[in-house]
Amino acid sequence: MFHFAHDEEGRLCAEGVDLEALAAAVGTPTFVYSQATIERHYRVFDEAFRGHPHLVCYAMKANSNGAILRRLAQLGAGADIVSGGELYRALQAGIPADRVVFSGVGKTKDEMAAALEAGVLSLNVESEPELAALAEVAAQRGQVAQVALRVNPDVDAKTHPYIATGLRESKFGVPLEDARRIAADVKASPHLKLVGVDCHIGSQLVDLEPLMQALTSVLALVDDLRAAGHQIHHVDLGGGLGIPYRGEATPQPAELGAAVVAKMAGRPETLILEPGRVIVGNAGILLSRVLYVKRTQGRTFVIVDAAMNDLLRPSLYKAHHEIWPVRRTGAPEEVVDVVGPICETGDTFARDRALQPVAAGDLVAVMSAGAYGFVMSSTYNSRPRAAEVLVSGDRWAVVRARERLEGLVEGEAAPEWFE
Ligand SMILES: *Cc1c(COP(=O)(O)O)cnc(C)c1O
Repeated sequence: MFHFAHDEEGRLCAEGVDLEALAAAVGTPTFVYSQATIERHYRVFDEAFRGHPHLVCYAMKANSNGAILRRLAQLGAGADIVSGGELYRALQAGIPADRVVFSGVGKTKDEMAAALEAGVLSLNVESEPELAALAEVAAQRGQVAQVALRVNPDVDAKTHPYIATGLRESKFGVPLEDARRIAADVKASPHLKLVGVDCHIGSQLVDLEPLMQALTSVLALVDDLRAAGHQIHHVDLGGGLGIPYRGEATPQPAELGAAVVAKMAGRPETLILEPGRVIVGNAGILLSRVLYVKRTQGRTFVIVDAAMNDLLRPSLYKAHHEIWPVRRTGAPEEVVDVVGPICETGDTFARDRALQPVAAGDLVAVMSAGAYGFVMSSTYNSRPRAAEVLVSGDRWAVVRARERLEGLVEGEAAPEWFE
């Protein structure tokens, strides 16, 4: 979190930009991203795997802002996409289609057709009916679809149940024991080509062991498939590396890289990684202004102008986000609840949190909001979506304007029989 820090005068800066001045210019709530942090995270991650041919496919569902995608494309990143919308965004941002892998349990035929049209590196298939649908679409188009089989390695990722995806009972991937049979189906179709094996066991992983177990299972399967005559081009280990949300120790990309590269030694397959959160999570904050401080018997509520529609993670997963005052005074902290204006008790960013006393008009920063922040935002309560700003050194730019009121009703219409 080096690129978000208080200066000597106690002002919180994003790189060289004073956040008070930024909030005055752009308003709040606003997501603020540090370009230097994103670049550093990407480079550290990429370099961690330099001992083996590899491709980093940024999992753009973590943060799909076009400016961030464009910068990552300039750094050489590919993309892991999960929808036709993400394919559109990736191509718009200049990510070459042959660096795009398409994940997800429920691709529609239209999405498959768009991916084939673009020429993505692989469609990561998660079930036999999906494979059949893909074969149909490819046949109609007279194309051969490059397929990676997503397997479910049945490992416990030891993370929040909503973001664990590698257990047998989860909806993701095909069971390992079915993979050989399904691979044979791929081979039997003139419109499908098996090019990879893929897994993704969950998100916010703070233990490397389950990832390494998954890789062991995947490599054993790849050996089987090779023996059965499949030419496997790549092994895709997915994403999921955890990040510190409260300064806790989390595994470093270099640790994961060293272990994975060692295991891949001498193997012909290219390695694909799909990091999302680890690239952008700690590269962004949600800047918000205090509206009111409400004191009731025994509780103090700091009511801010950001809410669960802007940053859903605390409501959805009881996720912890640090909250920093934008102007640090050094006054002794008090215990407060930090809440948004939405009509849901779940609209709470922090409960029983020690925070420097703040007053109406003060700014706070909800930290670690770069991943699964803006992308999960909605207009619930008819709140326009927040602005997004990218900072680089002492420069800043609005990379997505705050949604306008007109945007809230765009596309709505009264039925003609009202007339
Ligand atoms: C969500 C997702 C990722 C990225 O996960 P992070 O925890 O953000 O790294 C990668 N691959 C797939 C298939 C995903 O669904």
